[in-house]
Amino acid sequence: MRQRSKEEQWHQAVENAGQLPDYLYINGERVYDSSLQSIESVDPGSGRSIGAVPAGNRQSIEAAVVAARSALQGPWRDLPPRERGQLLWRVGEAIRADKARLALVETLDNGKPLKDAEVCVERCADYFCYYAGMADKLEGSSVPLGAGKVCFTEHVPIGVTGHIIPWNVPLNMIARGLAPALTCGNTAVVKPAEDTSMTALLVVELMEKVGIPPGVVNVVSGYGHEAGQALAEHPDVHHVTFTGSVATGKTVMSAAAQHIASVSLELGGKSPHIILDDADLDRAVPDIVRAVFANSGQICSAGTRLLVQKGIYNELLDRLTQASSKLTLGHGLDNKDLGPLVSAKQLDTVNGFATRAEARGIKFVSGGQPVHPEGFEQGFYFPPSIAMDVPVDDELANDEVFGPILSVISVDDLEEAITIGNNSDYGLAAGIHTRDINRALKFARGIDAGQVYINGYHGAGDTVPFGGFKHSGIGREKGLAALNAYYEIKSVVVTLC
Ligand code: NAP
Ligand code: MG
Repeated sequence: MRQRSKEEQWHQAVENAGQLPDYLYINGERVYDSSLQSIESVDPGSGRSIGAVPAGNRQSIEAAVVAARSALQGPWRDLPPRERGQLLWRVGEAIRADKARLALVETLDNGKPLKDAEVCVERCADYFCYYAGMADKLEGSSVPLGAGKVCFTEHVPIGVTGHIIPWNVPLNMIARGLAPALTCGNTAVVKPAEDTSMTALLVVELMEKVGIPPGVVNVVSGYGHEAGQALAEHPDVHHVTFTGSVATGKTVMSAAAQHIASVSLELGGKSPHIILDDADLDRAVPDIVRAVFANSGQICSAGTRLLVQKGIYNELLDRLTQASSKLTLGHGLDNKDLGPLVSAKQLDTVNGFATRAEARGIKFVSGGQPVHPEGFEQGFYFPPSIAMDVPVDDELANDEVFGPILSVISVDDLEEAITIGNNSDYGLAAGIHTRDINRALKFARGIDAGQVYINGYHGAGDTVPFGGFKHSGIGREKGLAALNAYYEIKSVVVTLC
């Protein structure tokens, strides 16, 4: 009886989501191409299909790039910057106004709890509003060259930009690259992740409704090895913004290198979170839990390597075990603390890490195996899991799981924590809890990471530069720093006669 009512609620939610996109969006038009294969869109919470999007191919990318090129030559790049900013602000407002539907579709497509999907819609809107204000402030400079010359610089759009998006926070990722790219006067082709293409297609339509000209943004759903590869390889794409795994990042970078396109790469992480013996554990425990289990651990900057000073190790482990046992897990529509993982494939990956770790003798003090919430037995659920005494050379201490597994490691002191923290190819984020400002700042100086958090992990938001050291990426997104990727500087030198 209970199962039936959950199923009824689910069908009602799918109906409330309305007609879901089953087309590509190119040059201001919905493109239906019966020659293309389709990609099933699966609700990870129930394992059921909610629709399908086309698997765009090389020809689809070609059509989208042609549209983006001609939109660039049209009114977009020459629009007075203030008008461009006003349009982008309206995009933010339109996204906020459509929050209920966008969040519902995101929950059904990606699995995240509805309350988290609503925050994602807000962040998506924030990106457009934040960068909108910069459109008329991208000023060049004047360079003194002596009495006989005048020299000034201008910011010029790069041209057509390609955006290849992952599945973990699709709405944020789409806006994070598109908003600064459009602010600088570029046009765009977006390739969303095959598992989560719906909201990108909805957002682009909202953009055009508020007046962004056709062709300025085009969305081609499809597979990475086909549509993604074609986008990165396209000679008329002058900058590629990629967020995803290190392996794919390398492929994208070499494809872009063939035609000397610049790249922004936001790749993975295995971020260290250090808890020293003078830390306020009442603050640290909920912070550690959020840092690793938010979005079911599918966050590139999650604090997944917990390095704990020996004197507090046992107490902290007990407290963490208790705190994680209180977390709830369920379908995104039920708004629990954790939703499912995005796909059966991701569940397999995460479960593989846990199974292999147990086979090597690593003990999980909580979680460690898939679970099957009542009514949603076919969904892709993995509970918050804590592995203790993980050897520093174990794969669980070094490889990115991208799921809700915390690896706990004991350290003697700050110096050892920094050494272990830096002994990684990654360098995305890092955190520390201590009451000693000297130790905190020594850590911030010593650790290789693009963002460092002291006594509170995450929370920097869209105005603070974000990006990785080492294999975690190239370039910075968010904040004013992100704009640097999206314009060329042209220097004009006049010789006076
Ligand atoms: P992924 O497999 O690298 O995929 C990312 C995107 O690249 C998807 O759209 C994918 O398409 C596409 N793609 C795959 N092969 C391609 C190719 N040959 N050429 C061009 N595009 C290609 O990564 P993921 O598994 O979706 O996401 C998880 C990874 O992303 C993790 O490593 C995580 O740390 C990282 N991530 C980083 C950040 C950050 O800001 N640093 C944020 C989120 C995620 P398909 O969907 O068809 O595979
Ligand atoms: Mg899906």
